[in-house]
Amino acid sequence: MQKFQPTRIERGDTSLEIQWKDSYCSELSYRFLREKCPCAHCDAVRLGKDPFHILPSDDFFDNLRLVDIQRVGRYAVRLGWSDGHRTGIYTFQFLRELSESAPKTPDVC
Ligand SMILES: [Zn+2]
Repeated sequence: MQKFQPTRIERGDTSLEIQWKDSYCSELSYRFLREKCPCAHCDAVRLGKDPFHILPSDDFFDNLRLVDIQRVGRYAVRLGWSDGHRTGIYTFQFLRELSESAPKTPDVC
């Protein structure tokens, strides 16, 4: 679906900017993206299935950087974080849905 095709993905200081084919524009903060990480591990943490996991502090998010973006086929990207976490594969559709539900909507891109 054309709506879910990004034309440009750019790494900002604290957020990921995505320009979409239908000229919609997203700005997703790294904190928000990481909190929504779709990998199995983070999923388990969010559902409270891992009682030994300590939830990350604000400090953790302040220092968190996106260090790598890898294209996965035609439909997704894998995000690599400064703490070494890189199992989250974000489909374009997921990113688009995230940005439409994000607390902050950008004015322009
Ligand atoms: Zn994860």
